[in-house]
Amino acid sequence: MAGQSGGRVKIQYPARVRLAQLPTPLQPLDNITAHYSVPYGGPKIWIKRDDLTESAMSGNKLRKLEFILAEARARGCNTLITCGGEQSNHCRATALAAAKAGLQAHLILRKETAGKPEADAVPDGNLLVDYLAGARVSRYPLREYLNNLSQLFEYWSEHYQQQGDRALCIPTGGSDGLGIWGYLLATEELLEDCDAAGFRPERIVCASGSGGTQGGLTLGCQLLESAAEVVGYAVCDDAAYFVSKVAEDVRDWQSRYPHSFTFDESRIHVVDDYIGPGYAIATEEIYETIALAAQLEGILLDPVYTGKAFYGMLQDIKRGQFAHCENLVFVHTGGQFGVFPQRSGFRNSWS
Ligand SMILES: *Cc1c(COP(=O)(O)O)cnc(C)c1O
Repeated sequence: MAGQSGGRVKIQYPARVRLAQLPTPLQPLDNITAHYSVPYGGPKIWIKRDDLTESAMSGNKLRKLEFILAEARARGCNTLITCGGEQSNHCRATALAAAKAGLQAHLILRKETAGKPEADAVPDGNLLVDYLAGARVSRYPLREYLNNLSQLFEYWSEHYQQQGDRALCIPTGGSDGLGIWGYLLATEELLEDCDAAGFRPERIVCASGSGGTQGGLTLGCQLLESAAEVVGYAVCDDAAYFVSKVAEDVRDWQSRYPHSFTFDESRIHVVDDYIGPGYAIATEEIYETIALAAQLEGILLDPVYTGKAFYGMLQDIKRGQFAHCENLVFVHTGGQFGVFPQRSGFRNSWS
């Protein structure tokens, strides 16, 4: 899998369908660094613009989907089935990528919790795009979704089989031993960007939702012999969950693409102090952080993932957690479509 050639590690990648505009830019966040890091002895903050992997298909999921679509082709599948919340960026990217590749997409979605102001409104954000892309959407109440997810996949997969179709089931967030390739390749790209900019990153920060991005970055840094510490900011489950999820995804990767290599689980770093009230529920600080990044850097973060991770990172810089670090790279994993369904949260920025 990873062979040594001329001192540099060469990773052999499986087939991939090119969908993303790569490499994405690596940019310094000079204004935020000056105002929110330097005063606390913190690092120079860089941003890896994976929100620019594409326009409609934008975000981190597209990198995973490049490998997932190649697998679907290799297996002769004409349908992709996947799952997520109603505002899932992964489902939206899957719906669009499937459309482009001439495949059907079926999305198993978890209904918005009743009582939220946006619930049951006209489709908005990612969900609206799912419909525009022609995806078939099945929405389930939270409890049914949580209790029966694997049966729902089985049910729909059989449904397509009986029709003479062939479906590939993609797990939440595209995170498993296949999707992880997307962020192995991204790690290679990111380290090359840093080389070109003349530094070696000591920390790489990302938001963690299903663990695949963090897993690929962590595995990538070990394989490519980078000393960078990858820190995942949890947006839903706790640190223990992500440590075992990342380890599980790497094991799955190793079982599918066997080679001799021992993953160092002690490299999995998770911060779970900034989840707030729960998945996709943001607080005032998160909305303010999104406005701040837009005002100081012209960058749009999102309230579900990147806004929480960025807020957490700035808090930790303030608390001195990133002292002794000169260069930190924040991976902007996308999520812009999730801003609009939560528009009422930004009241203080527009009223
Ligand atoms: C899915 C997602 C993440 C989390 O990535 P995982 O690989 O699922 O952990 C982060 N940011 C955005 C915008 C996402 O859509």
